[in-house]
Amino acid sequence: MFSDTGSSGPQSRNTMVMKDMFDYEIIYSSRKTLALQITAEGRVIVRAPVGCPRSVIKSFVQQKERWVKTHLARLQERTENTSAYPPISEKDRARYISIARDIFTRKTEYYARIMGVSYGRIAIREQKTRWGSCSSKGNLNFNWRLILAPEQVLDYVVVHELAHRREMNHSKAFYAIIENVLPDYRKARRWLKENGHTLWEQLNYSSLNNA
Ligand SMILES: [Zn+2]
Repeated sequence: MFSDTGSSGPQSRNTMVMKDMFDYEIIYSSRKTLALQITAEGRVIVRAPVGCPRSVIKSFVQQKERWVKTHLARLQERTENTSAYPPISEKDRARYISIARDIFTRKTEYYARIMGVSYGRIAIREQKTRWGSCSSKGNLNFNWRLILAPEQVLDYVVVHELAHRREMNHSKAFYAIIENVLPDYRKARRWLKENGHTLWEQLNYSSLNNA
């Protein structure tokens, strides 16, 4: 950022808004040099010596045009990102994990009975690269972010992990077990491949409420 060292106090200060390549404010004070500043809110401020001609200020701003535009764009981007995907609070995360535990416990019970397989503990995790896993002892992990996905996707992940109780691999025989329970499983698998990343970008409250 351009320096504006030693803010020069409340001298005969006179502010005006200019409209050129972007809006900027001029603040005159008893300083000796020109300085340009962008505030966290995206206001562009030129600090100028009292009596500095408008044409001098204008050409000064023109020289900095690219720098200002780059910074304004970056600021804009940052604001959009933070407002679109607010960070989740610990309290909310705990609530989602508890909802996920209920859902996955119910679904696992249901499908394990249909498939005639046993399982161990169920744990709810938040691993960026994993939707679920099944240990050799039959302990199951599920990613809580899945509760933001369509329900068929959750069913697929549960059935996928339970199918590992029969086949600890991703062979044809393994997928035949899944297909037997979920004839449409390919749709869910594709959804996860194509849209899985969106579960990290947003909290979709409506799909949560329908879960
Ligand atoms: Zn697998």
